Amino acid sequence: MEKRQELYAGKAKSVYATDDPDLLVLHFRDDTSAFDGERMESLARKGMVNNRFNAFIMERLQAAGIPTHFVKRLSDTESLVKKLEMIPVECVVRNLAAGGLVRRLGVEEGKELVPPTFELFLKNDALHDPMINESLAETFGWATPEQLAEMKALTFRVNEVLKQLFADGGLLLVDYKLEFGLFKGQIVLGDEFSPDGCRLWDAETRNKMDKDRFRQGLGGVIEAYEEVGRRIGIGFD
Ligand code: 5GP
Repeated sequence: MEKRQELYAGKAKSVYATDDPDLLVLHFRDDTSAFDGERMESLARKGMVNNRFNAFIMERLQAAGIPTHFVKRLSDTESLVKKLEMIPVECVVRNLAAGGLVRRLGVEEGKELVPPTFELFLKNDALHDPMINESLAETFGWATPEQLAEMKALTFRVNEVLKQLFADGGLLLVDYKLEFGLFKGQIVLGDEFSPDGCRLWDAETRNKMDKDRFRQGLGGVIEAYEEVGRRIGIGFD
């Protein structure tokens, strides 16, 4: 497999073509962004930590029967993935109230959500990823009702696998965002799963151990990501 030209540079990852039209290389950079790219910083080791974190989680999900784009980790900061036709919709599941839900509905942070909630957002930085629903996604052609049903089912299956995985490490999976795409017509989990796109709290102290440390200027961002990784069995050396 040969890495070829850069196709796209996102806020934290760059995507490269390969000599195989079905495969891409994801390069996890040290860049960190918040508030739709308004705040950007480089955090040493972040690319390596998130690449290893994502590889570990994607392998666990794959083993649990959830189709993912992940093929293999190539280096400290690069992974090989299947090329998906991305669906511009973010799927969010919440087990506990935090972030946008607290702001929008005024519920108390940390309230347990039974059953867990499921929300859709349009992936569009210029519009600040507005909340959407199935009707809007269908009408505007972002995803079909069948694709949305499959994405919802897969997003909840991910919850069952990861809630337990993190619980075993003394962590609460508060919420997370997933993105899906199509590979030869099949809905497949894409993008990444790392503490950049989920909330993880220490189960005892409720300390935040995810990207909220960066968003809220709490410091110790990468140290927290590494601590989460160590607790669930990821080695970073
Ligand atoms: P909220 O709606 O509370 O801002 O986000 C819910 C969950 O989805 C959080 O775990 C948050 O990190 C994740 N999330 C939502 N939108 C994005 C996004 O555009 N980028 C990243 N990295 N995570 C997101």
